[in-house]
Amino acid sequence: VADLVLVGGGLANGLLALRLKQLRPECEVVVVEQGECLGGNHTWSFHSSDLTAEQCAWVEPLVEKKWASHTLHFPAYSRHMTGTYNAVTSERFHHVLQRTLGSAIVLGQRAASLAPDRVVLEDGRAIRGCVIDGRGFVSRSLPNVGYQKFLGLDVTLESPHGLTAPILMDVREPQEDGFRFFYVLPWSERRLLIEETFYSDTAAIDKARGALAIEAYARKQGWQITRIDREEVGALPIPFGGRISDFADAETPRDVTLSGVRAGLFHATTGYSLPFAVRFADLLARSATFERAKIQAIARHEAEREWGAGRFFRLLNYMLFRMIRPERRFSVFEDFYRQPEALIQRFYSGRLELRDYFRILTSDPIAGLRRLSLASFEPWHAHD
Ligand SMILES: Cc1cc2nc3c(=O)[nH]c(=O)nc-3n(C[C@H](O)[C@H](O)[C@H](O)COP(=O)(O)OP(=O)(O)OC[C@H]3O[C@@H](n4cnc5c(N)ncnc54)[C@H](O)[C@@H]3O)c2cc1C
Repeated sequence: VADLVLVGGGLANGLLALRLKQLRPECEVVVVEQGECLGGNHTWSFHSSDLTAEQCAWVEPLVEKKWASHTLHFPAYSRHMTGTYNAVTSERFHHVLQRTLGSAIVLGQRAASLAPDRVVLEDGRAIRGCVIDGRGFVSRSLPNVGYQKFLGLDVTLESPHGLTAPILMDVREPQEDGFRFFYVLPWSERRLLIEETFYSDTAAIDKARGALAIEAYARKQGWQITRIDREEVGALPIPFGGRISDFADAETPRDVTLSGVRAGLFHATTGYSLPFAVRFADLLARSATFERAKIQAIARHEAEREWGAGRFFRLLNYMLFRMIRPERRFSVFEDFYRQPEALIQRFYSGRLELRDYFRILTSDPIAGLRRLSLASFEPWHAHD
């Protein structure tokens, strides 16, 4: 028996467990993860401006590396931007959580069935408590959804790459399969994470083609890869309509409390979920009680609030995926990144101000699409 049973030891439930340990050590938590480590195989990045100073401080132990600025390259211009950019590696995530939570973590056990107050593990053991289902998003075809998909390789180079800041988007390569760009994190003098990313209509990823594309990109920058250290692959939903319930799969009982991406807790346009998971963890850890009905109400309210706040981003996605020819999608980002830095930061953090909506909607090429899309867009259904 526990107060909270967190099913899935990924980003959202891991952050929740950490925050509970920090703020509510009396809360009995169990984390059930099917894999051999927490967090899977990921690099999660975020801008410090996505979080409050207090949130940055409690996430800090998970941060592997941070940079004071970053760069963007478009066909028409390059831009260097200030603001701290952070990267959390799943390896570090696992070690920090294991040290902090110890025996509260059950690894290598798949939850076979879930009810709001009980989980049965594959080996037949049952754990009772308020269940929070954070089993992530299972990639599948959904209506009203495009995909941000990518292959990333951690590589070691023959000689120093010379980068001092991450490249968040390098859009100078030919466009294919929608909006295509490279993303580069300089871990150390000779180590890089290089990702090829697409805003595509499909979730399908050709890993062999992607690896060749990354090698070709590296060669073009004068970087000679001597070793591939790690591979990371994923497809994130980029919704332009639909419902908050779209991201949980059919196996999820209706009244189980959800967390993370399956609760719809992610940025509709960037696909980032770390700031959402941090806010969710803060909120739940501050609950007066861990009684099931209370936890369920807080979680559901938070997911609906965030989903409501995301409707403008889904409108932009609609324009991106439905109203612009795939090979021209990059032009929306090229135009957007001409905006003031403070607006871009508010866009990433999902906290746009009224004047920001106006600026974005009156920018070129969005302006030409605006009237048409507003007439045909159905932005928000919180429930079935
Ligand atoms: C490759 C990749 C890179 C990303 N990069 C970023 C980024 O830079 N910044 C950002 O904010 N977001 C990023 N995202 C988006 C998002 O933050 C991640 O998808 C994030 O991991 C989602 O968190 P989650 O907790 O909802 O699910 P997950 O982290 O996917 O966790 C789900 C966990 O549940 C476990 N599980 C599933 N079924 C069971 C079961 N039956 N029993 C027990 N355990 C189970 C899984 O093994 C997994 O560990 C990225 C996504 C991907 C795929």
